[in-house]
Amino acid sequence: MFNVIRPQPGPDCSTDYRSKEVVTALKTIFHGKCYLCEDEVSDPEIEHFVPHKGDTVNEHDWNNLYYACHRCNNIKGTTQELLDCCDSSVDISRAIKCLCPSVPEKDVIVEAQEAAPKFQNTAKLLDKCYNENNTGIRGISREALHKKIFGYYCTFIKNRMTLKDKDSLPSDQEKAMEHLSVMAKVSCPFSIFWKWHIFSDSFLAGKISIK
Ligand SMILES: [Zn+2]
Repeated sequence: MFNVIRPQPGPDCSTDYRSKEVVTALKTIFHGKCYLCEDEVSDPEIEHFVPHKGDTVNEHDWNNLYYACHRCNNIKGTTQELLDCCDSSVDISRAIKCLCPSVPEKDVIVEAQEAAPKFQNTAKLLDKCYNENNTGIRGISREALHKKIFGYYCTFIKNRMTLKDKDSLPSDQEKAMEHLSVMAKVSCPFSIFWKWHIFSDSFLAGKISIK
């Protein structure tokens, strides 16, 4: 998850919350990523953060519309009492720790950083979004998701090695530093992972600034 700045007022959602204008605005503010797993979405769905259950006001409320992938939308369902990525008072990337596993087949690590129910519920949901494989379809979508995350992780490690290697050319070190900084930005897929791989690494923590 990542913090999202939602402009106010938003586009008119009163008649069609799936209109081109609304969907395009959501794509822009969510950086084209699912708000839960942070995968770049090619076939997005509009998720209602608070389930509308037939309430048309809630259904057409700009502030209740979130950009999501099919897998996460389906897994979240009517889950409530979650941290809200559009709430600027919460630093989502510090609230939930996400780390890559040491081998691709293992689950990614998701840990709430506070005991409060919203933190715990959000971590539980993200753990499901990343790892759940309780049906054939979810097994396939999990495999595809993990393949992408691990691909980015390999890039992360490669750049870290360039920085660590005393024989690296200064120009290569500069590029590696830039690449890692870009990965820690909110626009990068799976940015919460790269932030935590920097926070948790004494070698990188002082070198890469995270916003
Ligand atoms: Zn997702």
